[in-house]
Amino acid sequence: MKPASFKYFRPASVSEALVLLSENQDDCKILAGGQSLVPAMNFRLLRPSVLIDINELKELASVQTTGQSVSIGALTRHATFHRGVVAGPLGHLLTKVVRHIAHFPIRQRGTFGGSLAHADPAAEWCLVATALGAQIVARSSRGERTIQSHEFFKGTFTTELAADEILSEIRLPLMADDWRTGFNEFSRRAGDFALGMALAALRIESGVIKEARLGIGGVSDRAIRLEKLERSLVGRLASSQTFDAVAQEARTVVIPTADIHASAEYRQDLIATVVKRALSEAAA
Ligand code: FAD
Repeated sequence: MKPASFKYFRPASVSEALVLLSENQDDCKILAGGQSLVPAMNFRLLRPSVLIDINELKELASVQTTGQSVSIGALTRHATFHRGVVAGPLGHLLTKVVRHIAHFPIRQRGTFGGSLAHADPAAEWCLVATALGAQIVARSSRGERTIQSHEFFKGTFTTELAADEILSEIRLPLMADDWRTGFNEFSRRAGDFALGMALAALRIESGVIKEARLGIGGVSDRAIRLEKLERSLVGRLASSQTFDAVAQEARTVVIPTADIHASAEYRQDLIATVVKRALSEAAA
C-alpha cells in the first residue's frame, strides 16, 4: 500500500523544525529513520497530514562525551554503535546491544531518538535508557526540558513527549572501567523483536557485587528497571546461586504480556532465563 497524501517539509535547522512543529502539531509527524513510521503510514495505521523530515539536522547526529555522561544526538543511526564510538564498559555494552536491533540495512537508517520516541516495548535502546537511568532532552519553541527515563515511557508507543516537542538528545551515564556488562535477548529469528531481554551491569570487587544495574524489556508495555533486585544483589557473591535466586525473583516482578508470539507463562519463564544469562555474562 501507499501512504495517504501529506505535506512534506525538510527544515535546515532545529529552530526551523520547532516552528514547523508548533504550527502543525495537531496533525503532524517527525520523520527520522522512517523504519517504524513509514511502514505504519503505508499500512495507513497513521495518516499525518504533515511530515517534518529531520534528516538535515546534522547537529542532532553527534555522539559526545561530556563529564560523566555520553550525549547521543537523537538522529544518531543505530549502526553508529557497530564501532566503539563510546569509551569503556558503556561503549562495549552499546556495541553488543546494537547487533540485536533489526537487520543491517534497518540499522543504517533507524535512529536512537526515533527508537525512544516510538517507544516499542521490545526496543533495545528503550531498555538501555531505562536500565541505565538515561536523561532525555526534549526541545520545543517553548524551550528545553530534561526528562528522566522512568518518567519518559508511558506505555506501548506512548511517551511523555508533547506534540510540539522534538527529542533532541539522550544522555547516558558513563561507567568506570571496573564495571562489566551483560545483555541477553531471545527472539524467534535473528532480527525479530525480542520476546524477552535483560540487561545487567555489575561492579564486582573480590567476587562480591558492589553496584548493580538490572532491567528487562519485551515482556510488558515498557522496559522495566529492577531497582529492588539491584539493591538485593549488592553485598552478595557474584555466583551462579546468587544469579539463580535473583532470576527467580525477577519472574514475579511483572505479569507479562500475552500475545500471538508468546503466552504470559512463557514470558515469565523467559524473564528468569534472560536475567540469569545477562547477570552471568556480566560476571564472567
Ligand atoms: P521513525 O520511523 O522515523 O519514527 C518513529 C516514530 O518516532 C514516529 O512517530 C516519529 O514521529 C517519532 N520520532 C522519530 N524521531 C523523533 C524525534 N527526534 N523526536 C520526536 N519524535 C520522533 N527496533 C528495535 O528496537 N528492535 C528490533 O529488533 C527492531 N526490528 C525491526 C524489524 C523491522 C523489519 C523493522 C522495519 C523495524 C525494526 N525495528 C526494531 C524498528 C527500528 O529500530 C526503527 O528504526 C525505530 O523503531 C524507529 O527509529 P526511526 O529513526 O526509524 O524512527
